[in-house]
Amino acid sequence: MLKCRDVTEMTTDYLDGSLTLPHRMGMRWHLSICSFCRRHIKQVRATISLLRADTGSVVYTTTRTGAKP
Ligand SMILES: [Zn+2]
Repeated sequence: MLKCRDVTEMTTDYLDGSLTLPHRMGMRWHLSICSFCRRHIKQVRATISLLRADTGSVVYTTTRTGAKP
């Protein structure tokens, strides 16, 4: 059985989809009973999508500048 600490350590791998199936199932089971970890995962996911959005906007700006001088 996973503990909160295990879950927080595996959060990025879980969101990346790089966890093995048993770990993933353990995470899901833990998340179904633990609101603390659910909140933690939500925050990490939001942070990751913010970072990706930032990178995307930089790439977009660069591409746009290149396309329309
Ligand atoms: Zn937990």
